[in-house]
Amino acid sequence: MKRLLIKGGRVITAVDDYVGDVLVEDGRIAAVGTSLEVQDVETLNAQGRLVLPGGIDVHTHLDMPFGGTTSADDFESGTVAAAFGGTTSIIDFAIQYKGQTLRDARDAWMRKAEGKAAIDYGFHMIITDLPQAVEDEMDVMVREGVTSFKLFMAYRGVLMLDDGSIFRALLRTGQNGGTICMHAENGDVIDVLVRRALAAGHTAPKYHALTRPARAEAEATYRAICLAEMAEVPLYVVHLSAHEALEKIAEARDRGLPAHAETCPQYLFLSYENYEEPGFSGAKYVMSPPLRPKGNEEALWRGLAMNDLQAVSTDHCPFCMKGQKELGKDDFSKIPNGAPGIETRMSLLFDGGVHRGRLSLNRFVEVTSTSPAKIFGLFPRKGTIAPGSDADLVIFDPERSVTLSAATLHHRVDYTPYEGRVVKGAAETVISRGEIVVKDGVFRGRAGRGEFLKRRPR
Ligand SMILES: [Zn+2]
Repeated sequence: MKRLLIKGGRVITAVDDYVGDVLVEDGRIAAVGTSLEVQDVETLNAQGRLVLPGGIDVHTHLDMPFGGTTSADDFESGTVAAAFGGTTSIIDFAIQYKGQTLRDARDAWMRKAEGKAAIDYGFHMIITDLPQAVEDEMDVMVREGVTSFKLFMAYRGVLMLDDGSIFRALLRTGQNGGTICMHAENGDVIDVLVRRALAAGHTAPKYHALTRPARAEAEATYRAICLAEMAEVPLYVVHLSAHEALEKIAEARDRGLPAHAETCPQYLFLSYENYEEPGFSGAKYVMSPPLRPKGNEEALWRGLAMNDLQAVSTDHCPFCMKGQKELGKDDFSKIPNGAPGIETRMSLLFDGGVHRGRLSLNRFVEVTSTSPAKIFGLFPRKGTIAPGSDADLVIFDPERSVTLSAATLHHRVDYTPYEGRVVKGAAETVISRGEIVVKDGVFRGRAGRGEFLKRRPR
């Protein structure tokens, strides 16, 4: 039996806060207590450190084709980077292309992850085409552990579903216990604005943001809420960026509706002003939804603190500036959408949330781990520190300052949107199912050790 004792750390979950010990046996947490006496065990001293449940990032795009190129991290480099940042589980997105079965899509993404992932992973299924046979197949996916489906209200002709199809998918989750994740932006309005901007000769990166108004996000968010309300099912809005959209979620929750939403660090730490950086540099921040004007982020922080937003994920979708973002040098609409962030999430949130007094320690754990685990059928196996849970643990130094830089991060991308930013709080030792995968800045896990997470329906 492989055992590990983490001694004397300040153990934080979504509800607990005590100085104590955590005993790990065979990949799971065997016991927690204020002073555990155990013989013949490898001991990690966590004095002066926090002991946190491993981070769960429920929005990543590894090895994903987009706009004639593929996201720069595969399941190996992406999950290694995640582990360095204190994340021990991800949920990535499998894509069903038009005419494809969900099973084929799922299998294709399983093959991308197998033998490569260094931490545990699950999949949401992106549905782009919903004939009756595919609707029926949603039940099979839920039974086999792919319990959430992402639908797009934008990108007509590529990813977008019409409202009728969205409504049918929502209704289906009422029967099978799945969850619909929504990309909420009014795609048709955006397409018109993009065509008009290009016709006027506006090709710079900032026009990506100027053609995706916050109101287009708010309108789609509200429409998604109404569709889910009529279908009488919960809803999860991905990468909520604008305070106008947050108002719709808050209003729905005030009416008692099970409307959930995540935001991402980029919307908490960056702003529209980044698109105005000189030359083509604004392309670093081309993502959808786009960064919003300065000041917007305070509403999102409040939303996180008040539980109108339940999770912080990354939407890690990295493209190198060289050879990838450059595809849109003369046309912002050809810049691959997305940015890296899988490794920087926990430190950013800790610094901007806990150190700045916007989030309590418990709330920090809740939005980075516990609540995503609950919403997506992983709790209590993941998302907490309790006997029987997987030993996914982070020994976190709350006082260590780190300067974020592409030169020292482990993702396979030639920039970080946070270059030069100093953050206080960093993962020191990272444990995945009882195995030390990162210690003292060294990766000690191996590619392929990550397991597929078969998730539970609601
Ligand atoms: Zn995404």
